[in-house]
Amino acid sequence: MLITQLKSKESIESLAVGKVVIINCHGCKEVYFPEHQADELQKELSDNKEVIQIITTDYICNPDNLKLQLKKHMDKINLADTILVFSCGVGIQTVAAQFEDKKVYSCCDTYQLPGFQGVTPLNVDCGQCGECYLNGTGGICPITACSKSLINGQCGGAKNGMCEVDKDMECGWERIYRKLEKLNKLDNMKYDAPKVRNFGNSKPE
Ligand code: SF4
Ligand code: SF4
Repeated sequence: MLITQLKSKESIESLAVGKVVIINCHGCKEVYFPEHQADELQKELSDNKEVIQIITTDYICNPDNLKLQLKKHMDKINLADTILVFSCGVGIQTVAAQFEDKKVYSCCDTYQLPGFQGVTPLNVDCGQCGECYLNGTGGICPITACSKSLINGQCGGAKNGMCEVDKDMECGWERIYRKLEKLNKLDNMKYDAPKVRNFGNSKPE
């Protein structure tokens, strides 16, 4: 089982730039999703920001299902500057991969709970780290796309774009770099100080 918690209201508000489309996933029963809090927050966002569509659907972790579910909303999605996703880390990564040119942001942190992890066609994976980093990495998870789960950028060991630990795997941080370049967000890679992962965050409050 896993659990999602909303990021702070301030951080979600700061992500809602320009025309905003919101996607909620109410799919897995194995994932606790804070539906009521999300609903309240999205009402406030609609009052204060330019929210042009709120979509509530299921199993956005399945790329084919996601495409199908969003088909009727594509006119609004094409207009959007920002897509805010309220789901577990797998769902957010799937949306970010499907809309490569859009700014796709995570509004939730995903934590691990023991037990059944749900059934998803895992094109991507979430390590349920409790402090979702996807908003700084163009929607690519540094915990699972990098063999060392680095959060401050590349280790320097990649050769020809491939990971030094797993030579069959593309370096996750090179993928993140290319994605940020595409989004014109390379500034995300300039840190004032290194980030320190708080392993105490791996459990919900
Ligand atoms: S950064 Fe990765 S592991 Fe952490 S919550 Fe986000 S998707 Fe999951
Ligand atoms: S080569 Fe890339 S993916 Fe592999 S450990 Fe280093 S930064 Fe991570």
